Amino acid sequence: MLVTKRIDGKARADILRVKVATAAADLKAASGVVPGLCAVLLGDDPASQIYVRGKGKAALAAGIASYQRNLPASVSEAALLGLLAELNSDERIDGILVQLPLPGHIDPRRVIDAIDPKKDVDGFHAQNVGHLWAGGKTLVPCTPYGCLLLLRGALPGLSGAEAVVLGRSNIVGKPMAALLLAENCTVTLVHSKSRDIPAIVRRADIVVAALGRPEFVRGDWLKPGAIVIDVGINRIPIEGEKTRLVGDVAFAEAQGIAGAITPVPGGVGPMTIACLLRNTLLAAYRRRGLSEPPL
Ligand code: NAP
Repeated sequence: MLVTKRIDGKARADILRVKVATAAADLKAASGVVPGLCAVLLGDDPASQIYVRGKGKAALAAGIASYQRNLPASVSEAALLGLLAELNSDERIDGILVQLPLPGHIDPRRVIDAIDPKKDVDGFHAQNVGHLWAGGKTLVPCTPYGCLLLLRGALPGLSGAEAVVLGRSNIVGKPMAALLLAENCTVTLVHSKSRDIPAIVRRADIVVAALGRPEFVRGDWLKPGAIVIDVGINRIPIEGEKTRLVGDVAFAEAQGIAGAITPVPGGVGPMTIACLLRNTLLAAYRRRGLSEPPL
């Protein structure tokens, strides 16, 4: 029986974090510049607060100054846009991220497009999305870029591979498809209106699952040897009050069929934060017209 490799996202993320920290130290030594990342958080959602705190801690550990601006959930869109204008012109700040989702009265597209594209470390600004698809220099969304790094490690030759991406969000699915296309994969993007999803998945050498549906992809859908990247994070009840995290792929069923698979947790999640730090460093170098470190 085939032995399924476990793709260690934490170990890969640690390598990237060390590279980022080295590049940050080099920048400081050469020009005195400390790169800065500012998170904008609306309201007091505990999960968002934990995410933002985690990003801030990771930034500090990599030699990146971390700033945070908290606004009430009731803040007007105009006030939020005003804050972004202020951050856009703040020289200490190289990366701005607005924690999503936003309250219903705020248009997320207007907010994202109000961030200076050069400081858009989430890579969601329409201009950066356009560059991603057109093949220009851009800041790539963190989660799909992290998935790509894991894929490159697991499958040296991506060119010509059949890749299926499940989920077409602007945050994960669509940019993932663009990145795989740029690697010369043949890409299929699956969504809630797709027909016969198991048959589509069965022909894939690469499966990236980003649906937010617990264990949606079954083991017997996978082509033997397929490389599986599981982006999903789903908390499911087990017994009593207890819960556990599962991905969008039935991990146990994939054993002995997939060639390699990311666990949840410990797969894609750590890569997302490491890629955010990478983007902040790239933004700091590019904004100053400096030649980029190999990150
Ligand atoms: P999202 O915006 O909710 O998008 C989900 C996508 O899945 C949509 O395109 C939807 O199709 C599709 N979908 C949902 N149910 C489906 C079904 N039954 N059959 C086929 N397609 C279906 O989610 P997201 O923001 O991309 O996140 C996806 C998952 O990744 C979530 O679990 C999230 O927590 C996780 N995530 C993890 C990280 C990380 O760092 N590890 C980062 C981001 C997200 P339609 O477009 O047709 O509705």
